[in-house]
Amino acid sequence: MRMDTLKRAIGLFACFMLLSAVPFGAMAMPEWTFPLSPEIISNREGYLTLANKEVLLSGDYEPDDLVTLTVRKVYTGMQMRKAASLALEEMFEAAEADGCILYVKSAYRSYQTQKTMYSNRVSSMGYDDGLVQKPGASDHQTGLGCDILNLEWTRKEKMNKDFAAAKEAQWMAENCWRFGFVIRYMEDKEEETGIKYEPWHLRYVGKEAAQYMYEHHQCLEDFTADWQGYLADWESRGGSFERLLLQLNQLNDVIVLETNDEGEEELSIFY
Ligand SMILES: [Zn+2]
Repeated sequence: MRMDTLKRAIGLFACFMLLSAVPFGAMAMPEWTFPLSPEIISNREGYLTLANKEVLLSGDYEPDDLVTLTVRKVYTGMQMRKAASLALEEMFEAAEADGCILYVKSAYRSYQTQKTMYSNRVSSMGYDDGLVQKPGASDHQTGLGCDILNLEWTRKEKMNKDFAAAKEAQWMAENCWRFGFVIRYMEDKEEETGIKYEPWHLRYVGKEAAQYMYEHHQCLEDFTADWQGYLADWESRGGSFERLLLQLNQLNDVIVLETNDEGEEELSIFY
């Protein structure tokens, strides 16, 4: 019992020293006040990766955690990144509970597939009509973007914005953020995205970012400009993003929240 108390006292002391050393070592660093954590903004997982006409993904950009989708889909073998696939499972189940049966129409597309689709489109039209994205510009290449429809619309040859009136589309517009998705090409963001309204194209960005974008009515281009603007300003005030991430990683390694027998959370320290 006494040993426990002693150990706890040493732990608390070490903890205090460590916590007080951090602000001391980072005296010049301004406080991080952006509503999303630096870890999310660092895009370590790639969930915030942008692909559009101006920001092209390279030919060899291929996610290394693609999995075959388990949810209802039009074609077998469709793939997405693991986190997006798991989030789809959660979302499809919730939609079904609300009477909305969803189908994935299109998911991950490689650079090469997009290249073939693009050149087929251009040669059949005789010019680039802008309806098929150039290779590298497609959100589908991130492995986080997908097209989701109801049964009726899977039978149509072409998708158009009338899908927005379907109850499944309305359900997705209202609820997809709860599962980490956003409507990638919003109706009033055609200028920002460079793409016409696509109520069927969902993009996984993670739950925190999706909630933030939903609440601020931002498309991915808006959101990227938002956090990049904040970061630039924060760094101009003396912040170092690299150093901040390093500090946060060190803290995560050393201090762990544990639950004691009484069910209370307490800090434990590991050397
Ligand atoms: Zn799409």
